[in-house]
Amino acid sequence: MALIISGIDVSKGIAIGNVHLLNRGAPEVFELKLKKHEIKSEIERFQDALDEASCHLRSIQDSIPEDTPTDIAAFIDSHILMVEDSMLRKVPVEIIKKQHCNAEWALKQQYDKLVSVFEQMEDDYLRTRINDVEHVINLIQQILKDKQYTAQIDEQPLKGRIVVADDLTPADTVLMQNQNIAGFVTELGGPLSHTAILARSMGIPAVVGIQDARALLQQEELVIVDGGTGMVLAGVGKKTIEDYRRRQRTQREARRKLRALRDVSARTRDGQRISLQANIELDEDVSALKQSGAEGVGLYRTEFLYIDREEPADEIEQLHAYLRIIRVLKGKPLTIRTLDLGAEKEFDPNFQGPLTQNPALGLRAIRRSLKDTDLFKRQLRAILRASASGPVKILLPMVTSQIELVQSLSILKQAYKELENEQLHFDANIPVGAMIEVPAAALSANILAKQLNFLSIGTNDLIQYTLAIDRIDDQVNYLYDPLHPSVLKLINLTLQAGRRAKIPVAMCGEMAGDTRYTRLLLGMGLQEFSAPPSSLLEIKQIINRSKVSELKKPAMKILNTTVPDRINTMVDALNDQSF
Ligand code: PEP
Ligand code: MG
Repeated sequence: MALIISGIDVSKGIAIGNVHLLNRGAPEVFELKLKKHEIKSEIERFQDALDEASCHLRSIQDSIPEDTPTDIAAFIDSHILMVEDSMLRKVPVEIIKKQHCNAEWALKQQYDKLVSVFEQMEDDYLRTRINDVEHVINLIQQILKDKQYTAQIDEQPLKGRIVVADDLTPADTVLMQNQNIAGFVTELGGPLSHTAILARSMGIPAVVGIQDARALLQQEELVIVDGGTGMVLAGVGKKTIEDYRRRQRTQREARRKLRALRDVSARTRDGQRISLQANIELDEDVSALKQSGAEGVGLYRTEFLYIDREEPADEIEQLHAYLRIIRVLKGKPLTIRTLDLGAEKEFDPNFQGPLTQNPALGLRAIRRSLKDTDLFKRQLRAILRASASGPVKILLPMVTSQIELVQSLSILKQAYKELENEQLHFDANIPVGAMIEVPAAALSANILAKQLNFLSIGTNDLIQYTLAIDRIDDQVNYLYDPLHPSVLKLINLTLQAGRRAKIPVAMCGEMAGDTRYTRLLLGMGLQEFSAPPSSLLEIKQIINRSKVSELKKPAMKILNTTVPDRINTMVDALNDQSF
C-alpha cells in the first residue's frame, strides 16, 4: 500500500533509494545505586567513554573532505570542545561522587539541567543549539552502553541509501558525505536545526520532523524523498517512481546549468553588465557566499554582534568579524551596514526606557546610533580599520533626513581623526551610502544622493512604511505587496535620483532576491541586486536571458498602471516573454 508522509522541507532535491534505519537517540537510562568502593571504577568508566567520544569525533574531524562547508567542521569542533568542557567532564563526576549513582544517570541529570538553561534563551537559533549538547551526550550514553558503538558506526554501508533516523549529528553528516548517501529523513529537527543547515549546504535532499518515521518506514524498502515539498513516498507503483526519476533528472540538469553560471558574469543579452551581490549575516551564510558566485557583499547585517549575547562586541571583535569576510571575498567589496538596532532588536534593556507603542517608528537604526554616539563611533572605527585590508563600504540604515547624514558623516570624521592620531590605517575614501527604506528617503533621494557615494533600496522596510503594515504582524501580511503602485513609484524615484547624481543604486531587500521581479527591476533600470546567496544564480540566469532594451517599455507601462490586479498580470506577461 502506498504511503505518503508529509514533513518539513529543509533541503531541496529528489532522492530515490532504499531505507537505512538509524538510531541516534539516547538509550534508555536507569538509576543504579553504587557501593562506595564502586565509585572510583564508575568514574573511570565514565572518563573512558568521554575519551572514546573525543577520539571518535577527532577521527571524523580528520576525515572531513576538503570541499565540506566550513560550518560542518565548526559544528564538529564545537562538539569536541564540549566533550572537553567541565560541564561534561567535571559536573557528572561530582554527581557520581555525591549521589553514588551510575555514570549514565549522572549524565542524564546534567543534560536535564542544561536543557532548562537553553530553554530560557530568547533567540530561536541559540535555543536550537541544545541539539549540540544532546548529540554529544547521546554519543557518550551510547558508548557507555556499548563499547563497540563507534566501531559499528564506521562500518555502515550507506552509499545511495536514504537514511531514516530519529536525529542526525554533524559527525553523521560527515560520514554520510564520505559515503555518498542519497538523502535523509529525520523524526526531529526543524528548518533551523543544524541537520537542516548541513543538508542544505551539502545539497542533500532532506525532510525532517516526521515524528514516527522509523516506525512508518521499513529497513531496505524503496522510498522517494522530495526535499522541495517535504513529501516522503513509500510503497508507490512503478509509474510514480518513473515520474520522480524524470523530475530528478530535470532538477539535476537545471542545477548543473545554474552551477555552471557561478563564474560567468551577469550580463544581459544586449550587453548590460549587472552587479550581483550577496546579503549575509550569520556564519552559515559565509560558506554559501563562496558558492554563490557573488561579486561582493551588498548587505552585511551586523546586529548579530550586539544582540543575543552577554556583551556587545568591542572594536577588536568587530574588526575580526569584518576581516573574516574580507578574507573570504578576496578583493571583492564588502558593504557593512551599521547597526540596525532598536525596537525588538535591542540589546540594552535599559536604553529605551518605557516600551514604545510603535517600535518600528521609534528609536531604530541610524536614529539609535545617533543617540548613542560612543556605540556608533566604536563600530565606525572597526569598519574603518577593516577598510585597510580590502574594499569596504559603509551603509547607513533607515535614513530619513539630510540632518542624519550630516551628523553621521561628522561622527565618521571624528573616527578618522582618532585613528590618524593613533597611527592606525584605514581607507580615507571609504564610500558611504544610505539605505532607502522609508518613503521620506525615497522622495528626497535626489537631495540625499548629493552627500553620498551610493544608495541601496531596502524594500522590506520601504514596503512596510509605505503601506503602513507591520512586517512581522501575520494579520496584515496579505497587504504586503512589492508591486503596489506606490512602492514601484518610490523605487523608480530612487533609481532616477541615482542616475541624476551619477551614483550607483542597489537593491538589497527581499524583492531583489525574488525572481518574479527581476525582469521588471531590470526594465526600471536597476543595475545592482543584493540578495541571499542561495538566490543569486537563479537571478543571474534570468538576467543573462533578458534584453534590457526590450524590458524598458513594458516596465514603464507597469509603472504607469494604478490597478494592482492589472499590474500582476502585466508582470506575469513580462516574465513570459522571450526577450
Ligand atoms: C530592508 O529593509 O529591505 C532591509 C534589507 O533591511 P532589514 O530587512 O534588515 O530591515
Ligand atoms: Mg530594513
